[in-house]
Amino acid sequence: MKTYQCDVVVVGAGPGGSMAARYCAEGGMDTILIEKKAEIGAPLRCAEGVSKKWLEEVGITPDPVWIRGDMKGAVIKSPQGTTFQLDESKAGAEVGYVLERHLFDKALARDAAEAGAKIMLRTSATAVIREEGKIVGIKARSMGEDIEIRAKVVVAADGYESQVGRWAGIDTTLKLSDIDSCIQYRMCNIDVLPDYCEFVIGSVAPGGYVWIFPKGNGIANVGISVAGQLCTKGADAKYYLDKFIAEDPRLNKGQCLEIMGGFVSTCPGLDCAVDDNIVLVGDAARIIDPITGGGICHACRTGMYAGKVLSECFKTGDYSKKALMPYEKMWRDRMEDKLFRNWMAKEKLATLDDETIDELIKMIASADIKEVNVYNLLKAVKEKFPKVVEGFEDLI
Ligand SMILES: Cc1cc2nc3c(=O)[nH]c(=O)nc-3n(C[C@H](O)[C@H](O)[C@H](O)COP(=O)(O)OP(=O)(O)OC[C@H]3O[C@@H](n4cnc5c(N)ncnc54)[C@H](O)[C@@H]3O)c2cc1C
Repeated sequence: MKTYQCDVVVVGAGPGGSMAARYCAEGGMDTILIEKKAEIGAPLRCAEGVSKKWLEEVGITPDPVWIRGDMKGAVIKSPQGTTFQLDESKAGAEVGYVLERHLFDKALARDAAEAGAKIMLRTSATAVIREEGKIVGIKARSMGEDIEIRAKVVVAADGYESQVGRWAGIDTTLKLSDIDSCIQYRMCNIDVLPDYCEFVIGSVAPGGYVWIFPKGNGIANVGISVAGQLCTKGADAKYYLDKFIAEDPRLNKGQCLEIMGGFVSTCPGLDCAVDDNIVLVGDAARIIDPITGGGICHACRTGMYAGKVLSECFKTGDYSKKALMPYEKMWRDRMEDKLFRNWMAKEKLATLDDETIDELIKMIASADIKEVNVYNLLKAVKEKFPKVVEGFEDLI
């Protein structure tokens, strides 16, 4: 059997894996990045919306190659039609880009390659290799052949369906209540705002929301996320999305160019995302915004943190859980409070009826919020509707 040797093997060339591979390679590590698909970033499983401000933090320079649209703002709607329009002056860096995700993911992988990482496509991890109890690499199926990749440490960046963490003995199970199911149509021949991302909340999308993210030329990603256990009998994400589209005159003459479905976790991250000789990043570590389902920036951040911490471990040769704990600290210091707060907010939001959501949006629209972000919105909600934030008011 063909055997490869390296310092670190990164499983999954999504944003989390490519960032981890880039920072490991920059730290001097002999790095292999494997991806089970034949093409990085395809097929699409994303609404492609991101805010802008985190890009600099993780060392990504915005590039017109992967930016499809530079948004002027966002619109939040209640099912009763109350609208709250957020412009760049108020939303600052929270307003963002609509990406060409397949090009974005390839650009991050290219950065990893330029830093020295070796990329292996159509290479699917099938098991972790242990010797005397210690993880020493992974087994994989590569271009139809069984191989082994021997490494001092493994980065599990294998996304929502992550198996690598589980193979390594880490509990990555999700409760049903911590999973939203999604479906999205790439629609053409529709009449939506060309440079505003639109979000509709309430009973149109139980426990989640409908999104319309414009892609230019009368094309948009129109999708929905729903919490399965809140859907009425027999209904699923597709039922709610089709109903929403049928009832919206801007959309109901549109046609579909692409359909995709997927799942997002909505919990505030794993209890611990490291163990001896293994680190989990991005969706594999369940580090994704529970309220928006946005995980690209979290995957990039955790990938970068993992790469930086592993580069330090590389100097000492110690990849024990203890040596990897600075990674835990880094992501928790940066994101844990926000993930927890948004998780609580999502749980509460899911219990509100349409009338209350309408009241909330009216209140937010009339409140004097200098910079609109989830934190400031919740602060305004706390003042007027303290019951809505009961249980997590200390985080606001
Ligand atoms: C419908 C939907 C819409 C979304 N919209 C947005 C959005 O608008 N904005 C946003 O920020 N986030 C969005 N997200 C979430 C976002 O896509 C993820 O959080 C992000 O992609 C996580 O990056 P990652 O690198 O952790 O995982 P992924 O991007 O999922 O990458 C994991 C990679 O690992 C590969 N892989 C898996 N198993 C193996 C294996 N055994 N061997 C080798 N390779 C393997 C996969 O093929 C994949 O390429 C959305 C998610 C869904 C489902």
